[in-house]
Amino acid sequence: MRIDIITVLPEMFKGPFDQSILKRAQTKGVVELVVHNLREYSVDKHRHVDDYAFGGGAGMVMMVEPIHRCIEKLKSERNYDEVIYMSPDGELLGQQLANQLSLKGNLIMLCGHYKGVDERVRQHLITKEISIGDYVLSGGELAAAVLTDSIVRLIPGVLNDETSALTDSFQDGLIAPPVYTRPDLYNGWQVPEILLSGHEKKINEWRYEQALERTKQRRPNLSGLN
Ligand code: SAH
Repeated sequence: MRIDIITVLPEMFKGPFDQSILKRAQTKGVVELVVHNLREYSVDKHRHVDDYAFGGGAGMVMMVEPIHRCIEKLKSERNYDEVIYMSPDGELLGQQLANQLSLKGNLIMLCGHYKGVDERVRQHLITKEISIGDYVLSGGELAAAVLTDSIVRLIPGVLNDETSALTDSFQDGLIAPPVYTRPDLYNGWQVPEILLSGHEKKINEWRYEQALERTKQRRPNLSGLN
């Protein structure tokens, strides 16, 4: 898989993309993460990518031309499954959407800033709009990093057995059961006996019951309860 990210703040991806699972996925060659500085596609010598809003009002708007030039250049090099705009009014990111996107080959993610992008970008160049929650961020970079992480960890070969995504919350419509590690007794706080019993079948049953209970309490709308 290849993910191209278009941003005015390429440095923001240095931390998230250079650590842990996203780093390992790139080293293994499972995913290619390419960050593009939108200013390089500006049409004036001051490298402007934003301008005042028609009709007035506070806040700058990202111009259509640099974004168009950048997306067209990428599209001339390969086919893309989706051109995604990170947007607070987009489809809410959930595990199902992450699963679907993890099966794709090439994705573009466009990060907005200021008041957002000229609406014509959304009308003519974007195929999907995704929000990471009902709150407003200053820019799309953190949202694109979250989306990338949620997708890449699902690609086969990225996680090993210990970190398998299949036992994570939401994957089967349930919240994950509680987990414990050594010591079994700390400060008078005891690990549930069943987990120390060695009975794999009983442990699995206990975990399933706990997952059901947690889901009822915390996310009663999830499908795993049906
Ligand atoms: N004026 C816009 C918000 C712009 S915020 C509005 O009210 O809808 C600036 C940029 O941050 C957006 O263009 C978008 O790319 C990104 N952004 C903000 N909140 C986001 C969210 N919840 N999910 C995804 N992207 C978000």
